[in-house]
Amino acid sequence: MRKTVKIYGSPIDIVTMESAFERFKNLLDRSVFSYVYTPNTEIVMKAKNDESLMKALKSSDMNIPDGIGLVIASKIHRLGLIERVTGIDLMGKVLEFCDYSRKSIYILGGKPGVAEMASHNIQEKYPNIQIKGYRDGYFKGEEENDVIEGINEVSPDILFVALGAPKQEKWIHEHRKALGVKVAMGVGGCVDVWAGTAKRAPKIFQILGLEWLYRLLKEPWRFKRMLALPKFMIKVLISKNISS
Ligand code: UDP
Repeated sequence: MRKTVKIYGSPIDIVTMESAFERFKNLLDRSVFSYVYTPNTEIVMKAKNDESLMKALKSSDMNIPDGIGLVIASKIHRLGLIERVTGIDLMGKVLEFCDYSRKSIYILGGKPGVAEMASHNIQEKYPNIQIKGYRDGYFKGEEENDVIEGINEVSPDILFVALGAPKQEKWIHEHRKALGVKVAMGVGGCVDVWAGTAKRAPKIFQILGLEWLYRLLKEPWRFKRMLALPKFMIKVLISKNISS
């Protein structure tokens, strides 16, 4: 049974890395289309004032707690989240599983050339994965049908969507009835890490829950966007109830 907590209205799954991975595999076994998101505090804050994003988060099949802020907020208000489960780690486990079980994937997103490079690196590491296709994430509205047809023609088991948040969440939700894949997962910047065009924070930053700080140091222009985290924490500290 799926268990979630609500943080400012957004459902977040109470999962560990292991149970999130188990759920992902179960979703792959179903005959219906499923989708998985990796929300952080920025997304949860955005969803409060963005109806279509909130709808997407509410209708997905799993929202893993990707942001350390969500876990801290849950601890402060005793909601029950267990640990941070990052999209990049879950994606790694899923890829390993795909290699072992010869499942197929498609990567949509990133700047031109990035999905291709990511696919190449994934194939090198996991030779048994069937990479059915890739496409960059800078297509125009009128190309939307072409993008979906391109995916459906090869019907991969898993579609990784890296259009940035909240675009990827809305895109998956909007096209949920048209996508001929088993599971779609919003993976944001993970495709850049796989391509080698971005680096993940060193282990010590990960362990201390300071990946946001590393990202701020590397990409200082994101400063404004990243204010979402301190704003969220202040709100959490002064709110009596963060669930509704
Ligand atoms: N991206 C894309 N199409 C867009 C906007 C972004 O393919 O219209 C890609 C971008 O190139 C990057 C990824 O989405 O590879 C994640 O973008 P960003 O770092 O802004 O998002 P986040 O990691 O915060 O979700």
